[in-house]
Amino acid sequence: MLVQLTYASRVSRTLGSTDIKDILRSSQENNKADGVTGALCLSDGIFLQILEGDRTVVNRVYHRILNDARHKDPAILDYREVTARSFSEWSMGLITRSDENRQLFLKYSSTANFDPYSMSGETLSAFFQDILNNVRWLRKTPD
Ligand code: FAD
Repeated sequence: MLVQLTYASRVSRTLGSTDIKDILRSSQENNKADGVTGALCLSDGIFLQILEGDRTVVNRVYHRILNDARHKDPAILDYREVTARSFSEWSMGLITRSDENRQLFLKYSSTANFDPYSMSGETLSAFFQDILNNVRWLRKTPD
């Protein structure tokens, strides 16, 4: 059964571009092997990630990610069964906030900062759909 799990977490320390590259590299390698797809957003020191794939596998990957000391305060924000993947071309796409996509991050926030912890499942779903509609902002090309 295909599911999507969306969670947020906070960086536990200042993360440089090497840290982010490391996270992305292991995510893409592992997710390809696991058949997991999705996207990882980083803005204002907050990660927002959507993982999609087989229910058992997504649960296992999520619990592995929870053990990672590079982030803290994890919270599952949305969990749903789906009939099809949204990010089928992405073993893990990275979206970091930039001047160009600032509006996209703030469009769905009720506050001046990007705060996925306060967003509803429907709002998060609309945010990710908007990302898919604007893939030119993604830093890595699909694989
Ligand atoms: P290694 O990369 O060798 O890691 C072994 C252990 O060391 C793991 O417990 C890892 O958490 C820890 N570790 C590695 N580097 C550091 C470091 N610099 N600082 C502190 N601890 C470290 N993995 C996925 O497979 N799929 C994902 O979608 C995914 N998304 C992630 C999203 C976020 C926000 C973060 C922070 C991590 C994510 N990861 C993801 C990475 C995941 O947490 C594990 O690090 C990774 O799955 C383990 O890869 P590995 O088996 O190659 O082991």
